[in-house]
Amino acid sequence: MITRSPANVQIASDLASSLASSPSSPPGAPAWQRQLANVVRDPVELCRRLGLDDDALPGARDGHALFEVRVPEAYLTRIQPGDPTDPLLRQVLPLVAETDAVDGFVADPLEETDHTPRRGLIHKYAGRVLLIASPACAINCRYCFRRHFPYQENSPSRAQWQETLDYLREDTSIHEVILSGGDPLAASDRQLAWLVARLEEIPHLKRLRIHTRLPVVIPARIDEALLEWLGSSRLQKVVVLHSNHAQEIDAEVVAACARLKDAGVTLLNQSVLLRGVNDSVAALAALSERLFEAGVLPYYLHVLDPVSGAAHFDVPDEEARHLVETLRDQLPGFLMPRLVREVPGAASKTPL
Ligand SMILES: *Cc1c(COP(=O)(O)O)cnc(C)c1O
Ligand code: SF4
Repeated sequence: MITRSPANVQIASDLASSLASSPSSPPGAPAWQRQLANVVRDPVELCRRLGLDDDALPGARDGHALFEVRVPEAYLTRIQPGDPTDPLLRQVLPLVAETDAVDGFVADPLEETDHTPRRGLIHKYAGRVLLIASPACAINCRYCFRRHFPYQENSPSRAQWQETLDYLREDTSIHEVILSGGDPLAASDRQLAWLVARLEEIPHLKRLRIHTRLPVVIPARIDEALLEWLGSSRLQKVVVLHSNHAQEIDAEVVAACARLKDAGVTLLNQSVLLRGVNDSVAALAALSERLFEAGVLPYYLHVLDPVSGAAHFDVPDEEARHLVETLRDQLPGFLMPRLVREVPGAASKTPL
């Protein structure tokens, strides 16, 4: 989710499509790939499955035309049937408000295109770079106005990856590689294992960080094949999950986190502060508590990027600050996420 600007993803799409997994899962494909191939892609079906009257949800079709609905079954089962205000539903069902043009909400709020020395590589902050390892996502989050990229069946362009690897080899100030997307874990294990093996050959790299929503939305993604390449890496491993609500973290997600922990992974979480999803002290406290039960520490709480189509999720800064100050009265310090904003051109995430 940290690279959710459409322009940025577009630049990287050629490179990243070379790692993306195919949408039609071949026979014998891992369970998670079958789940990825069978996501709910129709707003009317989504409403029907949840016992919601689709007439009561105007705009679902319009929003879907702009950015398609995409909900994995494992996520669908955690949505409360019959409740149009469910905090998980709100993240995946388009509302008519998505088609409103709102001042200040633009297509590319992060202006990351200036920091892209190689395709699919963003070097904005000291010591760490971000690689777009897959343009695909398992779920389409309405607050992330990503353009949809068709999966491509091209064979990987190793030449393009080679350029990225050369850049990393030449800059010895880089100690950490962050795999992002889209969702980097939408790429196949074979391809990720290849990439990580190349990264391990670069002596000044110490850490591998993976920013992903897949362990939350399809916990079966954390399978033996993934744990094999990840667990055996010499790099220190950090997985930054993306969960916005305690209700997203069911027993299967807790088990997936436990498997990652057993493989030597440090687990963190980032959330986005979203109107109607987690914009209360109670929701934020419950999320932190639930994350810790799963062995995950809260890392960032992002204010919304002003991306077009998502203005109805916005929480004003004053209110965000007040929420977090009140939260601090209720939680131990280690369960407090850092409230941040991404400011184009800044040398780090900017605390509010
Ligand atoms: C958010 C981000 C990072 C990571 O920042 P941390 O503060 O280390 O979590 C790195 N590169 C880019 C381009 C980012 O947007
Ligand atoms: S998982 Fe959701 S928030 Fe993250 S990049 Fe994909 S659509 Fe955006």
